[in-house]
Amino acid sequence: MANKKIALACAQCGSRNYTITENPQRQQRLEVKKFCKYCGQHTLHRETK
Ligand SMILES: [Zn+2]
Repeated sequence: MANKKIALACAQCGSRNYTITENPQRQQRLEVKKFCKYCGQHTLHRETK
């Protein structure tokens, strides 16, 4: 049972700054506020396929 890996991309500049391992049971779309070094601030990050 391997957890799937998800890349989190900045909603402002589109950079994929984080990779997380997510529970495959989860259904809703992931949105997290994280620091983007390209934007220089905390921005919303969304999962990418
Ligand atoms: Zn950014």
